[in-house]
Amino acid sequence: MISAPVSRDCPACGRNEAEAYLQKGELRLVRCRICSMIYANPAPAEFASGRYYDQAGTDYYLSPAKLESDYASVRFDRELRIFRRHCQGGAVLDVGCSSGAFLFQLNQRFPGCYQVLGTDVSGPPLDYAESRGVAVVHGNFPEQDFGQQRFDAVTFWAVVEHLLEPQSFLAKAWSVLKPGGLCFVLVPNMKSLAARSLGARYRYVYPQHLNYFTKATLAKLVEKWFAVVECHSTHFNPIVIWQDWRGDGKDISNRDRAALLQRTTSYKQNPALKPVKALYKLTEKTLGALTLADDLVVVLRRR
Ligand SMILES: [Zn+2]
Repeated sequence: MISAPVSRDCPACGRNEAEAYLQKGELRLVRCRICSMIYANPAPAEFASGRYYDQAGTDYYLSPAKLESDYASVRFDRELRIFRRHCQGGAVLDVGCSSGAFLFQLNQRFPGCYQVLGTDVSGPPLDYAESRGVAVVHGNFPEQDFGQQRFDAVTFWAVVEHLLEPQSFLAKAWSVLKPGGLCFVLVPNMKSLAARSLGARYRYVYPQHLNYFTKATLAKLVEKWFAVVECHSTHFNPIVIWQDWRGDGKDISNRDRAALLQRTTSYKQNPALKPVKALYKLTEKTLGALTLADDLVVVLRRR
């Protein structure tokens, strides 16, 4: 089934006054003249509907390489550190939880502290999450009914950049959070060293990503429902910069993405690389302080 691409208003400010920003193959990015948000317009139909994630995409999310790196204890290190600093217990909902690795790690590290629930549009990875003891519900988050259940925290790890209508997800998060509840959002940083130096060659400029944030446009996106508690830039993968710079923007297959994740994870776990890691950590910290690291993480409080 092929449907037409979906035309969009600015996902951050809702206006429809954008100019061409960048083209890469079929992907057309525009930049809002009002708030500077960069987004795909039109959005490719299969990614707009979420259909991709329940069908073609599941090969990737359930590939042994992807599962192994997702379930490696180092994979969600930074997310867990930030999360734990702000939320020491309670009910946690992970939206776009995929195979459930974040919630699994949360329970492993802090047993008994959290009641966790994951949700996703993609069925097969949820089956895997359940097999690892993570409670899940299947469906499209804005349409889901949680009854009287309210959460202390809602997390979106590398999810919001994929959404056709991110505002409806944030509104839903607001509605299922307790008063003063926290929301955690991680997205790629369009002002990272990688994005600035690679431009269209950057592998994360690709059809699955419909929204491209800077610190300012992420703040704009959430302002209606949430106050920003803190915003950092984090993560740095020099291998990606090196490969994409040499690769001249050729398509990276899902298999290659998973293989790289696995390689990066094994570097992180290799004790022989300790001196390199110290230098790496310093670099990541410096880039983070300059808001030049790969991702943005924002901690939000419900208004
Ligand atoms: Zn806008």
